[in-house]
Amino acid sequence: MTLEQSYRAIVGGTLIDGTGCPPVEDCVVLMKDDRIVAVGKRGELEIPEGADLIDASGKTVIPGLNDAHNHFLWMGMRMISTIDLSKTKSIAEAVELVKKKLGEAKKGEWILGRGWDDSKWEERRFIEKNDLDPFSADAPIVLTRVCGHMITLNSKALEVAGITKDTPDPPGGQVDKGQDGEPTGVLRDARQLIQPFIPPETQELALEGLDIACSHALSLGCTSIQDAGLDDFGVKAYQAAFEKGILKVRVNIMWREGLLKSMEGIDLRVGSGNGMVRLGPVKMLMDGSLGARTAALYEPYEDDPTSKGLTMMPTEELNEKVNKFHEQGFQVAVHAIGDYGIDLVINAIEGALKGSPRKDHRHRIEHCEILSSSQIERIKQLGIVASMQPNFAGEWSGPDGLYEARLGKRRLRQNNPYRFLLDEGIPLAFGSDGMPFHPLYGIWSAVNHPVKNSRITLEEAMRAYTLDSAYASFEEEIKGSIEPGKLADITILERDLTEIPAEEIKYVRVHMTLVGGEVLYILS
Ligand SMILES: [Zn+2]
Repeated sequence: MTLEQSYRAIVGGTLIDGTGCPPVEDCVVLMKDDRIVAVGKRGELEIPEGADLIDASGKTVIPGLNDAHNHFLWMGMRMISTIDLSKTKSIAEAVELVKKKLGEAKKGEWILGRGWDDSKWEERRFIEKNDLDPFSADAPIVLTRVCGHMITLNSKALEVAGITKDTPDPPGGQVDKGQDGEPTGVLRDARQLIQPFIPPETQELALEGLDIACSHALSLGCTSIQDAGLDDFGVKAYQAAFEKGILKVRVNIMWREGLLKSMEGIDLRVGSGNGMVRLGPVKMLMDGSLGARTAALYEPYEDDPTSKGLTMMPTEELNEKVNKFHEQGFQVAVHAIGDYGIDLVINAIEGALKGSPRKDHRHRIEHCEILSSSQIERIKQLGIVASMQPNFAGEWSGPDGLYEARLGKRRLRQNNPYRFLLDEGIPLAFGSDGMPFHPLYGIWSAVNHPVKNSRITLEEAMRAYTLDSAYASFEEEIKGSIEPGKLADITILERDLTEIPAEEIKYVRVHMTLVGGEVLYILS
């Protein structure tokens, strides 16, 4: 290869560069090896002779998308080993899929499903053991709700786990019981009761899963992901995938606190690791989900006046943990969805910062869904990163959606207030939490937020899914925007987003995805 041939140039198309600046028409992006070396307009920027040209006329050129919160490894494994219930429209339809799987399974094999969403079902209720028992006497069944915070077991699975009418609620969780006092099969934030009995995942499955997940991500224009909470099984899987050349997208790992023990001696400071796998913040959970009615609220749920949700640990414990990790120099990322849960996390971060002030901590609140204006003010003052999922607004914030059902009309307006956060200058990192994993759908959701006051512009949404996602993992110096010196992680969309109605963004397909200057996906 001659020197000239290591140049590659994207020519034409509209550039949205990830910084939030207005789009540039008829752009040129010049790359050399794995880096961007120059950005300009056609006719003004000289392209070295012999450079490999990519024509992007009529298309949009954007930074590779960076999903700041998802469960990528588990998503990949589940794509192989579980029933996808996410598109079902009724319990009856979900039951049919489970029956079909049961028909193909070996006797006594565990039947696992995922992605059911009662807010999208005709019946508008949770699936229970009674829906499954008539056809599954011998096979344990575990069906996970779309949020991951709620599961339904059939009677066989309850029996295997020893869950009876006498089983108490575990800390931070709930075993639903019916009028007769017997478990209904629904467990809220109590997966730990069944998990030890489910055959463990293997590294083989993990590698296969990551392979599939990477292809899926590239086809959606995603070049970086942040995996929200892994133990040593997950960290080892990513490491192995990297070594075997399976890993095609860049990964930042949020690690569970237990990892410190199992991987003693390993350097866990933020950003350690190679260019493909890095260890990021420590991940903790403070509350549950709105779907499972376990997100911690100040006022009761609209559709269950007896409940204000749950907290996963006592406030003292949260404060101690946040303080300890902060003092050790780590970044923390704490899951909090309800306004009460969010306040507890803000308080904990405030306390830690009082004890030992640190300017650039970038502590994160994951989800951060139900916010008041005073909370937004405190988040700004403390320099907290809001790590949010715009697809939640798209999926559940509309008329008769889940947010309205759980929160009522008044609090509905407080969900995912992106406009207000950006107006305060709060760093906003966008991810999907895998519901669904689809960055462009998230961008569409933020631009078309059903709560009109909370809408943001296309350029702002793009920045949240690129540069500010990179900021959330301390990587904004190397990626997240199309600027000289940055990694050549670039996505080309098949249409010019500035030329189409905002409602159509979600239908736009990815034309090409480059990671480190290499073309890893082309629309066929
Ligand atoms: Zn998550």
